[in-house]
Amino acid sequence: MEINMGYLKTVSGNPTQNSAYSEANRNGLIRKAGKKLIKKIARSNLFFWGQVFLLFLAGFGMVAGLALWKLVHGRPLDGLHKKALLNIHLFLEQYPMGLYGLLCKSFELAFLADIVKNDIEKPKKSVIEVAIGEGSFSRRIFRRKKSVVGLDITPDSLFHTTRMAHVRQSIVSDCLELPIKPGTFDFLVANNLLHHISNKRKVLAQFSRIAEFVLYNENTPAWTSHQTMPFFLRSVGFKEKAAAKVKELNQRYLQDLWPLSKCNREFDRHFVALKRESFLNQKTYAAAFLFSAIYGGTAPVEPEVKAILLSSPFKAFTLWLTKHLAELLISYDYCMTRRDDVFVSYYGKSKKFKKAKTSNYLRCPECRKGNLRKSLQCVACGVSYQKMDSMIFLLEKKNNDVAVNYSIRRGEIKVAEHL
Ligand SMILES: [Zn+2]
Repeated sequence: MEINMGYLKTVSGNPTQNSAYSEANRNGLIRKAGKKLIKKIARSNLFFWGQVFLLFLAGFGMVAGLALWKLVHGRPLDGLHKKALLNIHLFLEQYPMGLYGLLCKSFELAFLADIVKNDIEKPKKSVIEVAIGEGSFSRRIFRRKKSVVGLDITPDSLFHTTRMAHVRQSIVSDCLELPIKPGTFDFLVANNLLHHISNKRKVLAQFSRIAEFVLYNENTPAWTSHQTMPFFLRSVGFKEKAAAKVKELNQRYLQDLWPLSKCNREFDRHFVALKRESFLNQKTYAAAFLFSAIYGGTAPVEPEVKAILLSSPFKAFTLWLTKHLAELLISYDYCMTRRDDVFVSYYGKSKKFKKAKTSNYLRCPECRKGNLRKSLQCVACGVSYQKMDSMIFLLEKKNNDVAVNYSIRRGEIKVAEHL
C-alpha cells in the first residue's frame, strides 16, 4: 500500500481536518497525558500558560547545558552548518521555540540557496516544484518572477501559491503520477515529499524523465525513533512500547523511511550526484524535537501557543531564546558524526533525461498520453479538466473527490502549515 495515499483521505475529508497534521497537533505529549481533569485544564488558559512555562524552562536548561558543552568542545563552523546559521533569523517568527522546524528550514535553505541562485535563476532555467504545499518555503527559495510551475494534491494549500509572484502556474495533481510530459523541464524540486512515498523508485524514475536536474530531500528512520516519546520509552527500557510508538507515528505522519545508505543507493540509481549533504544528527534532532513535544505538534508551532509566545511582554525573550538555542544546536550538531543524520538533501543530474521537442508540458492524467487543448480537453481521450481559483485540476477520475470537495468548501478554507 502506498502510504502517500493517506493524503487523499485528508484532502477529501472533513474541511476542519484538512491536514494529517492537525489531528497530530491535538495529540501532543501533554494533552495525551490528560485524563478528565487534565482535559478540563487543557481547555483553560492555565494549560497554555503551562506549555509556555515548560517551553521556557526547557529552553533555558538547554541553553545553559549547550553553552557549557560549547566552551569545552565547540569548533568554528564551516560548510552547510555555517550557512544554516545565517538563515536562522529568517524563520524565528515562523517557529518561535519550534527548534525542529526552524533548524530543518535553515539547513534546507542553506543547501538550496546557492544552487537556485547560480544554476537555476541566473541561466533562467525552467522549474517544476512537486508538492509545493502552500508555497511558504518555495517563496523563500525562488526569487525570479513567474519562474516555477507548482503542483500539489491539496488545493486548499495550493491556492495560496496562485498569489505568489514566483509561481507561473498552480496545478492540483497526484504527485505520484505527474501529468507532465517527459523531457520538458530543466529542474525538478521536491522538498519534503519523498519520505511520504513508499514506491520511491517509481517516483524518482519519473522525476529523472521529466527534468534534467533534480533537488529533493529525505528523512531517515531516526525521524520517528528519536521523537520524544519513543526516545524516552527506549531510554527507560520499554523497547517494545517504543517500537509500537514508532509504528504508530509513522502511520500518523504518513512516513515511509529508509536508512541513509538505502536512500543514497536509490538516488545513485537515477542520478549522478552533484551535491549531497546530510544534517541534524539524531541527538541534535532529539533535543530540538523536545520543544515540539511540549507544544504538542511537529514543526509548525501550535497557533494558540505561538500567539502567546509572540505577544508582549514575551516576544523579545522568546526570539532571544529561540535564536540562541538554534545557534547552539547548530554548533553542537557540527561536532556530531554525519553517519547518524536524520535528514539528507540531494542535487543530481538525471541519467535518463531526453529533452522534448515541445514546450507544451501538460499531458492528460487519465490516458497519460494526450496533449491538452487550451480548453483543457485531452486531444486523445476527450476527457475535460477544470480550472478553479486560478488552479488547473489535473486529476484522474479516481481522485475526482479532491476537486468536488474543494468546490463545495471554497471560501471557508483554512490552511494548515506543513513542514
Ligand atoms: Zn487523455
